[in-house]
Amino acid sequence: MSNASIRYRTIIVFNGETSAAYNRIQLSALLSGDADEESLALKPDSWFARHGIQLHHGEAVRTVAPDSHTVTTSTGRVYRYDSLVIATGASPTRLGIPGEGLSGVMNFRDLNDTRTLIELSQSRKRAVVVGGGFLGLEAAEGLKRRGIDVTVLHRSSHLLNRQLDPDGGKLLSDALTARGINILTSTSPIQLLGRDTVRAVQLNDQTLISTDLVIIATGITPNRELAQNAGLACGRGIQVNAQLQTSAPDIFALGECCEFNNETFGLVEPGYQQAKVLASVLSGTTASAAYKPSVTATRLKISGVPVFSCGQQAPDEHTESLVWRDFATGSYSHLLIRNNRLVGAILVGNTSQGLWYQELITGNTTIDLFRAQLPFGKPFCKAAA
Ligand SMILES: Cc1cc2nc3c(=O)[nH]c(=O)nc-3n(C[C@H](O)[C@H](O)[C@H](O)COP(=O)(O)OP(=O)(O)OC[C@H]3O[C@@H](n4cnc5c(N)ncnc54)[C@H](O)[C@@H]3O)c2cc1C
Repeated sequence: MSNASIRYRTIIVFNGETSAAYNRIQLSALLSGDADEESLALKPDSWFARHGIQLHHGEAVRTVAPDSHTVTTSTGRVYRYDSLVIATGASPTRLGIPGEGLSGVMNFRDLNDTRTLIELSQSRKRAVVVGGGFLGLEAAEGLKRRGIDVTVLHRSSHLLNRQLDPDGGKLLSDALTARGINILTSTSPIQLLGRDTVRAVQLNDQTLISTDLVIIATGITPNRELAQNAGLACGRGIQVNAQLQTSAPDIFALGECCEFNNETFGLVEPGYQQAKVLASVLSGTTASAAYKPSVTATRLKISGVPVFSCGQQAPDEHTESLVWRDFATGSYSHLLIRNNRLVGAILVGNTSQGLWYQELITGNTTIDLFRAQLPFGKPFCKAAA
């Protein structure tokens, strides 16, 4: 950052939200009551001031004009740039069904959503969460902890289907059910009912679930409109090359709003890696800086149950599976092996060996010396090798 601030005399951050930058991941802890707002702060405003960075909270960029190298913000002011970085994140995907505009139909994306959910949890008794991915499950857990009766609706046949296999998903579902969260899989809502406020959710088998709150967590859509309206190349997200450069040479994009090699992103780790590369590119410290997606692992704690997944997640005709399950401790591991190498790991309950499995996957390490011990982790494998 200091190199960048030498190269760029002025750095201005336009933040569409009114609050200072905060740790979005911690919104789940805020909702469940495990964290307070103060603990979410990333850096105090004084830190940015000390590094010559001007912050404009609550001032969204409305248009970008690549020809004149300017942006216009919600205040109507126009600012000139030499380099522009777009990091607009993503928005919750809409369901596209009747009743979505009713009061009490919410998202779980930012601090304002979380504050509203906490406030509503004091007067509402029942909630339906649409989407059994990590965000929906964290919303469900948070609301449950605030005394609300929660039902999760999930379209796929098992929870966290992007991270887990069916058995791992079932184990998680059993753990959440034991905590009093109702889980309905292989189902979708077709309509939300109510006069002004949502009162019921109608499912595709016509079942009605009465509720006072609906949280939609069915995925995210990259915020690419700013770039699209400026004529930049976009697919699902804002298209970038390995230097995070868009189709306009002085405009860069990273995080959930960008698309690299047809891939978009929904976790923090790729964003951190991209930020490192972009800092090098903009400060000119490493001429060869290039973003190369690595095998990123998903490490989550859903309702107190640790979950880890990395690499290939579904077996195919070229993989062999090593599956180990301990009913007593609720631990499950599914390791996928191809050509004597670990290519995928799914862990539920005990994820302490996740990092090591990730190293084996990224290192393309042969496992023949300790294959039998692999499900038990590094110490057993080292002893066997
Ligand atoms: C509740 C919750 C829990 C999560 N937990 C995890 C987790 O455990 N692990 C994990 O890896 N990931 C988690 N994520 C995902 C993670 O938070 C995101 O991947 C990450 O925040 C993306 O970073 P980003 O900078 O691309 O976008 P964002 O963090 O969304 O930041 C984009 C910012 O740009 C602002 N903006 C948008 N348009 C404009 C504009 N025109 N002008 C100015 N500002 C604008 C937005 O308001 C927003 O503040 C979680 C997300 C949520 C919502």
